[in-house]
Amino acid sequence: MDILKVDHIGIAVNNLDESLKFYEDILNLKCEGCEVVEEQKVKVAFLPVGDTEIELLESTTQDGPIAKFIEKNSGRGGVQHIAVRVENIEKAIEEVKAKGYKMIDEVPRYGAGNAKIAFCHPKGTDGVLLELTERK
Ligand code: ZN
Repeated sequence: MDILKVDHIGIAVNNLDESLKFYEDILNLKCEGCEVVEEQKVKVAFLPVGDTEIELLESTTQDGPIAKFIEKNSGRGGVQHIAVRVENIEKAIEEVKAKGYKMIDEVPRYGAGNAKIAFCHPKGTDGVLLELTERK
């Protein structure tokens, strides 16, 4: 498959406003707006860094994937996933499966910024939660 670039790095945080202080005031990055993604139970902030982005994720519920990640991580945030941009996500998913690896999402979902996304199963990626992203 053709990976175009690292689309973003997803970082789980306990409190988006608190975390943004570091990224904006110290790293001098600019938040390009916050968005709630209901389906994934997260509030997301994107901060462009060169031609990639940092995605800060705060859980909007006690039981969402980000809440679970933080719970497993002894209450702390951390790098939760890495996303790579692909040209055609349906083709990429088929290729992963055809080569014997598992997908968490066999059908793309819509993520923040209206991107089509699908997560690969961490079993095949050394425990890394890898997100395939297609953006037009
Ligand atoms: Zn992501």
